[in-house]
Amino acid sequence: MRGVVFPVSSRVKLPDKVQIEPVGKCNLNCRMCPGGIRRNSKQAFMPLEMFDMLLDQFKQAREIQLRGLGEPMLHPAFTQFIDLAARRGLKVGTATNLTLLSEKIANSLVAGALDSLTIFIESPSETTYGWLCRDGRLSEVLSNLEMLLARRESAGTGKPRVTVTSYIMRENMAQLPQLVELAGSLGVDAFTAEHLPGTMEEPALPRNYRPVRDFVAWQMPTAEDRPVLKESFSKVRNLGRKNGVEVTLPPLGPGRNGNGKKDCDWPWREAFVSSSGKMMPCPNVGTPDRSHMGNAASEGVASVWNGPRFSDFRNRLSEGDPPEICRHCSTAGAPGA
Ligand code: SF4
Repeated sequence: MRGVVFPVSSRVKLPDKVQIEPVGKCNLNCRMCPGGIRRNSKQAFMPLEMFDMLLDQFKQAREIQLRGLGEPMLHPAFTQFIDLAARRGLKVGTATNLTLLSEKIANSLVAGALDSLTIFIESPSETTYGWLCRDGRLSEVLSNLEMLLARRESAGTGKPRVTVTSYIMRENMAQLPQLVELAGSLGVDAFTAEHLPGTMEEPALPRNYRPVRDFVAWQMPTAEDRPVLKESFSKVRNLGRKNGVEVTLPPLGPGRNGNGKKDCDWPWREAFVSSSGKMMPCPNVGTPDRSHMGNAASEGVASVWNGPRFSDFRNRLSEGDPPEICRHCSTAGAPGA
């Protein structure tokens, strides 16, 4: 094979940020999220041993997010995932709908191992929240949040840093300022809002995604919504300053994922492993049946990270010919907004 040179640039260093999904299903059935699709799946829990073995292979990792599509508190060993990662010296974060918080879990979360906690709250209104997040009750989430913040105060660790986050939808975009005020009144540290991950218009979209795709198409803000969104963002920033809540907002304008890597460096910067061990290009993909690069648990992290499927995916992104799934993604903004 003399004369064959593999380009050095095609090998990508394993990233120092890793996202691993402990649970791939959710107890809620939010209209905009595919998490509810696998609600009754029995195989959505990552075994703790698999997690440990993956961490062995992500030797360079400095930071881990225990999150994905599912609700991590469904996992009976959820707090052990946190402790195990923290014992390895990793900075640990997780994300939750906070409906399943018990006193025992709250005490564990404020003990010092968890650095950051992101809580999804889609609306400050019980009615809107209940409509968007079927099976969820806002009053329950808020009372759990109060309990958690009180435990953090008593523990004196100052950890975790608590962020409230919302997806931006036509239904809730005018309510975001009220949500920031509410978060500030409870003592939350930060607020972020994100565009829905994408319009899911690829022809190969699994059938069970269709209700979510149709809901997203209806709720994704359009150019006509821009003035309302702009005003809402402006109020959010002001109220954040007034209430001591650090605010992070995405661009108002449209995404440009036709430009590939210029707009998305996720597949180079971070690794995402689903609860089944399958490595996906990014969390925006949702579930591995839309796209995955191979099974990191059975094939090995490094082989998948620099395997032919992932290399081809990255090449297409960097060469301005993004994979179909990326063409309808809102990484750089809201498509069509
Ligand atoms: S779907 Fe593609 S463009 Fe969107 S975040 Fe993932 S890798 Fe990036």
